[in-house]
Amino acid sequence: MSTHDLASRASQLRQLLNRYGHEYYVLDTPSVPDAEYDRLFRELQQLEEQYPQLKTPDSPTLRVGGKPLPEFSQLTHRVPMLSLGNAFSDMQVDDFDLRHAELIQFDERIRRELDEADIAYATEPKFDGLAISLLYRDGVLEQAATRGDGITGENVTDNIRTIHAIPLSLTLANPPAVLEVRGEVLMLKSDFERLNAEQVARGDKTFANPRNAAAGSLRQLDSRITAQRRLSFYAYAIAQVEGASWPATHAAEMEWLQQLGFPVVEADLRPVVQGASGLASYYETVLQRRPGLPFEIDGVVYKVNNRALQQELGFVSRAPRWAIAHKFPAEEALTLVEAIEEQV
Ligand code: NAD
Repeated sequence: MSTHDLASRASQLRQLLNRYGHEYYVLDTPSVPDAEYDRLFRELQQLEEQYPQLKTPDSPTLRVGGKPLPEFSQLTHRVPMLSLGNAFSDMQVDDFDLRHAELIQFDERIRRELDEADIAYATEPKFDGLAISLLYRDGVLEQAATRGDGITGENVTDNIRTIHAIPLSLTLANPPAVLEVRGEVLMLKSDFERLNAEQVARGDKTFANPRNAAAGSLRQLDSRITAQRRLSFYAYAIAQVEGASWPATHAAEMEWLQQLGFPVVEADLRPVVQGASGLASYYETVLQRRPGLPFEIDGVVYKVNNRALQQELGFVSRAPRWAIAHKFPAEEALTLVEAIEEQV
C-alpha cells in the first residue's frame, strides 16, 4: 500500500470505530458484532504501531468508552476508569505455543519488566455488562457512576439503588471512611429471555443481547423503569480505600469484598494461577463452561495478583499494564443479525 492509501485506510478506520463506539457506548444500540469492532480496532492499532506518523490525538485507540449522556448529571471519577488491553487465541491451531502466542507474550513482558521468574495471576470471567463505580462513605452507598469516557461518568445513583444485589450499606461495625468498589452490572441470560418475551408481548422492540439490555435498563432517566428490570451485579475491584487496610493481593480483595456483602463470582471461577500455562488452561476451562454459565462473558481477565507489583507496572494511556482481557471467539454474531433483521 502507498503512504496515501495507508493514511486513508487509517482515517476510514478511525471514522468507523468512532461511529460504532458512539452507537455502543452512548446509544446502547450497536450496529455491528463486537468481533467486527475488535477486528477493525486491532487493524488500526497495528497500522499505528507500524507507522507512528499515522497516529492522531483523536484516535479511538487512545480513548476509553464514550462521552456521558448529557441528560444525566455527571460525576468526575477520583480514580480514572480505564479499559483493558486485549489478547486473542486461535483455538483452531493445535500447537500450544502458537495457539496462545499473545498470552505468552503478555506473561513474558510482565516477567521481563518485573525481573521475576514466575508470576501469580488472579483470573476472572470477563463479564459482558457495563462497568460501575460505587462510592461508600462511612459504609453507606453515596454515589454510583458509569464509566463514561473514563474521566467523567453518568450519575446513576438512584437507578443503582434499585438493584437488590448491591448493598446500600456495608456489613461492618467499623466501615472504612471511603471505599470505592468497581464491578459489572449485567442481566442474567434467564432475565434477558424473560424481558424480551415481555417486550414482544407488549409489541415493544427487543434487545439485541443481555449487555445492551443491561446498559439500556441502567441508563434510564426514570428509576422506576430500572427497578422493573432484573439487573445483577458482580464486584471485581477496589479503586480506593481510606480508613482501612487495603488487601495486598487481588485475590484477598475479592475475599474482602465478599465479606462486605458484595456479590463476587464463585471461587472456582477465580483461581490464582502461575504463568502463561496456568492462564491458558484457565482460558480453555472457562471457554468450555461458558454455555452453562448464567451470565454472558466475552472472555476472561488476568490481573497480576500482587498489588505492589501492579503498582510497579503502572498504566499506559487507556489501560493498566498489569492486566489483560483474553477474548473468546465471537458467539453473538447471529443474535445481532437477527435483531437487526427484526428492526428492519
Ligand atoms: P473492555 O470491555 O475491552 O475492557 C474493560 C471493561 O471490562 C471494563 O470497563 C469492565 O466493564 C469489563 N470487565 C468485565 N469483567 C471484568 C473483570 N473481571 N475485571 C475487570 N474488568 C472487567 O473495554 P472497552 O474498551 O469498554 O470495550 C471494548 C469492547 O467493547 C470491544 O472489545 C468490543 O468487544 C466492544 N465494543 C463493541 C462495539 C460494537 O459496535 N459492537 C463498539 C465498541 C466496543
